[in-house]
Amino acid sequence: MRDLRISVTDRCNFRCTYCMPKELFGADHAFLPRASLLSFEEIARLARLFAALGVTKLRLTGGEPLVRKEIERLVALLAPIPGIADISLTTNGSLLTADKARQLKAAGLQRITISLDALDDATFKAMNGVGFPVRKVLDAIDNAVAAGFAPVKINMVLKRGANDACIEAMAEHFRGSGCVLRFIEFMDVGTTNGWRMQDVVPSAEVIARVDARWPLERVPANYPGEVANRWRYKDGAGEVGVIASVTQPFCGGCTRARLSAEGVLYTCLFAGGGASLRDLLRGGADDEVVMDKIAGVWGRRRDRYSELRTEATPEIAARKKIEMSYIGG
Ligand code: SAM
Ligand code: SF4
Repeated sequence: MRDLRISVTDRCNFRCTYCMPKELFGADHAFLPRASLLSFEEIARLARLFAALGVTKLRLTGGEPLVRKEIERLVALLAPIPGIADISLTTNGSLLTADKARQLKAAGLQRITISLDALDDATFKAMNGVGFPVRKVLDAIDNAVAAGFAPVKINMVLKRGANDACIEAMAEHFRGSGCVLRFIEFMDVGTTNGWRMQDVVPSAEVIARVDARWPLERVPANYPGEVANRWRYKDGAGEVGVIASVTQPFCGGCTRARLSAEGVLYTCLFAGGGASLRDLLRGGADDEVVMDKIAGVWGRRRDRYSELRTEATPEIAARKKIEMSYIGG
């Protein structure tokens, strides 16, 4: 266990078709009540215990992490924890003003990933489900760069027929910009996004298309367990990455635990259930008891969903899974 993804909220101001489709996450959708979310202090306490058990990297995510007020205050609580070498955040960029980016940097955030699925407004607006314009996400990327986050990573989820025509335009835009574009295979997270294998654009196809325009070569992984396959442009225009979790599952090397916004520990993005650490915290458990719980859950983990998916057993197809916006992408 080396990385911990912390979902700070299940709420989001976007309705991406592959994550929180607006038909299913409408005005009547019941989000978690405020009181059931972990407080920043509770998150920081758990992060300290996870760090004592070997976690060195934290990522804040959601839902949309920037809808949680004063998220920089959480970053400031996490930054001094002994053993934590890296704190990052994944955001849709919609609320990343220049001020917010500076505050996050000052609080100790080290890296930012911004999601952007197309440069073409009509395509992006349809995919984010709320008509949000591309320009504002590009501004957010500029704000992150100006605040000193470099390289900013850009996540593009590919869905066949929706935005796969935009692969080359995205590659061209971010080549030489200092940002690292990562193409992500559409995953069957949760049960509401209508996932079908035929909608997945295999990463091998993406790399072949980009390589045909701008020749690429492989870059070795930064560290064991890195999920992105890295490539660099032979002409020196920087790097791109692919996250091939469907066509090339990496369960065997996974070192990642996940904490939901209400403090449930999950050992897999495709888990059907988890263990509530919040109930332990609020029940007055001391650090040792909480650490024993975490270590026990991690020690018993046998998750390899993405590998089993490839085998397509009926048991796997019928499995109940947690939504991405809840568990934290
Ligand atoms: N709201 C933030 C954002 O969109 O960046 C953070 C949370 S979001 C769940 C984290 C990442 O997961 C985003 O880059 C998003 O595009 C990606 N994602 C969401 N649903 C996905 C799916 N079904 N398959 C692959 N990636 C997905
Ligand atoms: Fe919101 Fe991120 Fe999910 Fe899109 S991918 S709906 S921005 S949580």
